[in-house]
Amino acid sequence: MKNIAILTSGGDAPGMNTAIRAVAKYAMSKGITVYGIKRGYAGMLNDEIFELTPKDLGGIIDRGGTFLLTARLPEFKNPEVRAEAVKNLKKREIEGLVVIGGDGSFHGADLLYKEHGIKVIGIPGTIDNDIAGTDYTIGFDTTLNIILDAISKIRDTATSHERTYLIEVMGRNAGDLALYSCLAGGGDGLLIPEKEFSIDDLAMQINKRREQGKLHDVILVAEGVGSAFEIAEKLKGKVKSEMRVTVLGHIQRGGTPSGLDRIIATKMGAHSVELLEEGKSGLMIGIESNKLVTYPISHAWESKKEIDIKDYELALTLGH
Ligand code: ADP
Repeated sequence: MKNIAILTSGGDAPGMNTAIRAVAKYAMSKGITVYGIKRGYAGMLNDEIFELTPKDLGGIIDRGGTFLLTARLPEFKNPEVRAEAVKNLKKREIEGLVVIGGDGSFHGADLLYKEHGIKVIGIPGTIDNDIAGTDYTIGFDTTLNIILDAISKIRDTATSHERTYLIEVMGRNAGDLALYSCLAGGGDGLLIPEKEFSIDDLAMQINKRREQGKLHDVILVAEGVGSAFEIAEKLKGKVKSEMRVTVLGHIQRGGTPSGLDRIIATKMGAHSVELLEEGKSGLMIGIESNKLVTYPISHAWESKKEIDIKDYELALTLGH
């Protein structure tokens, strides 16, 4: 394989730059020319494609976001749009494509392979950790650490004022960020979309903590269950303590990627080039039990990543 391209698509995640660097540097070390595509599939359609040089890759290993930029192009679901976009790959004799993103981005990649023979490999990049076939997606660990830092800060003031805080965290329809920040941050309550919950039970738990002499409560609310403000509204009158809501928002998506994210991004990035060199296509890379694994790329949307029930129950048990 002489020419490959790389793009980032969908929501950005810390560690995407690290992955781009690994793909490009590893490919260059094998004598492969690497093209960067700006703004995901939008840049493929608009011909925003340029050859990456070693200079482009300097100083990006620890930079959050994606220097290739990311975008959403709903029209890419249309086969005529894909046929138009693929012309910009073919005219440069690009045979392989590495897509860093979520299941939607993988879907687009799979269709490029099936319809136009472009060899594609998907690397899971999303803070939500919602892709089946991998224990971790790139960005999840960095965001988890940002949330943990926020919990510690909020707990200080929660204790001083003896308040109950509801902290709304990202994750789209997945509860992993809320679950693991509760587990690792000592959260006192957890609401995730994968599990039913009762407002009355939560209120009882908060009141019981106060009877035990606890001075604060930190409740993790995954955005997938709805607004933390609405949960607070429902708790009103049922809890004795004063309540506050903090929506962490987009600070969760920025900043220097963590060590774990950089390691998995680097390993997955290099492996994507190995797979393309072996002539493989239509695969996604994951990491399971600390080993790189591959699945058909359709695994990302055909299987649903399940919540770890034992971890969920442990978070609840320790939160009481
Ligand atoms: P993510 O990759 O994080 O799941 P999206 O679902 O927004 O993010 O998808 C990113 C982009 O991938 C979309 O804007 C679109 O260009 C492309 N895409 C998503 N779903 C499909 C699909 N079913 N067919 C073709 N392209 C798709």
